[in-house]
Amino acid sequence: MEKRIQIICGDITRQTADAIVNAANCSLLGGGGVDGAIHRAAGPELLAECRTLHGCETGKAKITKGYRLPAKYVIHTPGPIWRGGNAGEEALLASCYRSCLELASQYGCETVDFPSISTGVYRFPLDRAARIALETMADYLAGHPEIRRVRMVCFDARTESAYRAALERLENRL
Ligand code: ADP
Repeated sequence: MEKRIQIICGDITRQTADAIVNAANCSLLGGGGVDGAIHRAAGPELLAECRTLHGCETGKAKITKGYRLPAKYVIHTPGPIWRGGNAGEEALLASCYRSCLELASQYGCETVDFPSISTGVYRFPLDRAARIALETMADYLAGHPEIRRVRMVCFDARTESAYRAALERLENRL
């Protein structure tokens, strides 16, 4: 059987999935990194819809249409900025992944692709972020058969190998 959690290397704006996740900021009005790439690929209608949402709190998520993207929906979630680890960063990062998956379930998305939330300019330590991301996904999927597949779309080899190592550790534990 195909694994429900997969890791691939690539550009999330090119992926075909029911929903892709955007590592946004709280304004939801676009930014650099993956956020900028998603807005460029989706076209200006995405920003127009985002303006109607009035921002989003860290750890929560909001959904829009995908416009010119191959994905039907974009789920926007502001990840935590790493402040040394004592500011609730781990719980907030887990909450990002969980909130996105909850919205995916509500909107009937069977396939969801994630970028590595918070490990770019927000500087969350990569190995820790990978463990939290995959554990949160595995926990959620265990109780939600409606989600058929989630993928981590890693933009570079270092990110990909961190997620592969974390997935291996998780599978050995399960
Ligand atoms: P954050 O502010 O949450 O840290 P960033 O966009 O700075 O978000 O980085 C998050 C991750 O997204 C990083 O690993 C970065 O390399 C990656 N990334 C950037 N562009 C893309 C893209 N087009 N597809 C997938 N991942 C991307």
